[in-house]
Amino acid sequence: MKIRMTLCLLALAAVSAISYAQDGLKIYISADMEGVVGVVTGEQLGPGGFEYERFREFMTNEVNAAIDAARAAGATEFVISDSHGNGQNLLIEQFSDDVTVIRSWPRELAMMAGIDDSFDGVIFIGYHASTNNTRGVRAHTMSSANITSVRLNGMTMTEGSMNAAIAGHFGVPVIMVSGGDVAVAENQVIIGDIEGAVVKWASGFHSARTLTPEAGYEVIRTRTKSAIDRIEEFEPYVLETPIELELSLKHYRPVELLSYLPNVEKVNSHTIRFVGKDMIEISNFLSVAIGYRIDLQP
Ligand SMILES: [Zn+2]
Repeated sequence: MKIRMTLCLLALAAVSAISYAQDGLKIYISADMEGVVGVVTGEQLGPGGFEYERFREFMTNEVNAAIDAARAAGATEFVISDSHGNGQNLLIEQFSDDVTVIRSWPRELAMMAGIDDSFDGVIFIGYHASTNNTRGVRAHTMSSANITSVRLNGMTMTEGSMNAAIAGHFGVPVIMVSGGDVAVAENQVIIGDIEGAVVKWASGFHSARTLTPEAGYEVIRTRTKSAIDRIEEFEPYVLETPIELELSLKHYRPVELLSYLPNVEKVNSHTIRFVGKDMIEISNFLSVAIGYRIDLQP
């Protein structure tokens, strides 16, 4: 009797373990760099910076930390978008063979290129605070040199929330964000109760108190595991359509030229309004508004 009961309990435990495991999940990872552990100035952020090559390693390791934890929790497929600067930061030889990486620009859906409804969840790595935030390290939205504000349906957006809305268009929820404390908090306020991996604390635009790389990877692994374990709880972040974009730019000339387009309205000398039928149209409009120049080569 006693033996039989033990066996029953074991069988019950096995059943609940099976229903709890997350098998065959497909995860999309969008990786930026300003929110990577230790990043505080341009020296870490682009070719020519005296610390850039080392920080490409840290960025790659942070993505791998998320992949390792997600895989251990049951994820089996990964697509990574290299979404910072020239889009060629991640060291692709350091990923396992079942990972694919989206590189360089331009590409449709920008930092979310390749997302579709086949994914189960989205993870943001190395994300930073928005341009409207007075506290974040390297706080900007899409272009620090040119954009002063991006609003969708009247709401101030971060890169994270815009990208969450693109994923939401396909019914895919964001489940985790890593970056500085301000960026993580800001995205949790807009997107909802997603997991947050804080790897540094802002002390100004150009300064932060940071974890070491290894300690940062551990935080990312822990929060990713939590996210995968409760992946059924997350809701896609969906904006009501049609979507109204209000884009404020630093300079007068792009505002004036963009306002010549038939469905663009000039709100004031620094702001245009565009209404898109969905996030695809909004994302493509932003890509053109920010990226187009007649002398682009080749
Ligand atoms: Zn970036």
